[in-house]
Amino acid sequence: MTVALDISVTKAERSKLEDINLENIPFGKYFTDHMLEADYENGSWKNVEIKPYQPLLLAPSLAALHYGQAIFEGIKAYKDENDNAFIFRPSDNFRRFNKSAERMNMPVVPEEIFIEGMNKLIALDKNWIPAKKDHSLYVRPVMFSTDDMLGVRPSDNYKFLIILSPTGPYFVEPMKILVEENFTRAAPGGVGFSKNAGNYGGSMLAATSAKKMGFDQVLWTDAFEHKWLQEVGMMNVFFIIDNIAVTPSLEEGTILEGVTRDSVITGLKEMGIPVSERKISIDELVAAYKDGKVSEVFGTGTAAVIAPIKELNYKGFSMKFNTDNYKISQSLKTWLNDIREGKLEDKYGWMWKVG
Ligand SMILES: *Cc1c(COP(=O)(O)O)cnc(C)c1O
Repeated sequence: MTVALDISVTKAERSKLEDINLENIPFGKYFTDHMLEADYENGSWKNVEIKPYQPLLLAPSLAALHYGQAIFEGIKAYKDENDNAFIFRPSDNFRRFNKSAERMNMPVVPEEIFIEGMNKLIALDKNWIPAKKDHSLYVRPVMFSTDDMLGVRPSDNYKFLIILSPTGPYFVEPMKILVEENFTRAAPGGVGFSKNAGNYGGSMLAATSAKKMGFDQVLWTDAFEHKWLQEVGMMNVFFIIDNIAVTPSLEEGTILEGVTRDSVITGLKEMGIPVSERKISIDELVAAYKDGKVSEVFGTGTAAVIAPIKELNYKGFSMKFNTDNYKISQSLKTWLNDIREGKLEDKYGWMWKVG
């Protein structure tokens, strides 16, 4: 289905880029000159525009603020030495965004707005993509309900935005993780597989309590038994056990289907490492650790890509891992970077050319 959607473009009078040093910029702090905005009204998307990055004017009764219909995505764009810009796997995020939309009873966003709009926006702000190793442009699509009345029901009106933030190397210190036994991130039948704002809001207290105890994040367990491993913070988790990569399977709907997770699974298979997507319990992990079979534990996600874990604490029992010896996760990181930098053939069509 092709909808003829005109995207109007209003350019910023002056670029803020002159004021910003793109060296070692913190994640998510600066935004580019332009943003995309579209409105869903009376059953269709309209007012699709790219315009200078600016605040929104919203009613205090805005439905999203009260009832939480809000979803988002996180994607990265890169630039090569020849000034070509690429978006990493945007179609996968597009598909996932609309899955989240359906779960949250929100309208789907057409490809012409999500992908084409993103393409146009990035092309316009291309100078903001740092053409340096480990640098990228973080792309944040977001949609939320905009009815201005307090009746509890799915909103009739929605706003879709895309904003862009240049980002430097996201250096991740190996993490110390608490296996979470009280709080729950997701339950079967719930919204854990969708990238909705509330999942993040609901997870913060667990992370804060863990930090007070000296940990960086939590490893979520299932809602019923607090036994089946789920995700680490807001990242998917992998365990290398006996040279097999084990990661929790998706079928219960409690795991976010990470694009990095999928890329890593592809990479592991290319490297000849068997991948097992299945249920894995904390008891199995502890037993394997005691047998000396767990060689690597890491999280995966767009922002950090691969985040090594140096310690997992379960009921006071501390499992320690020497992250300096992590070979598989290191190779995966190099492999992914090489694809992104064009040093390796893009066999899977992951690099989507802007322009
Ligand atoms: C976004 C997210 C991930 C990672 O997904 P990517 O597509 O790899 O960025 C993992 N878990 C949760 C809960 C998330 O919200």
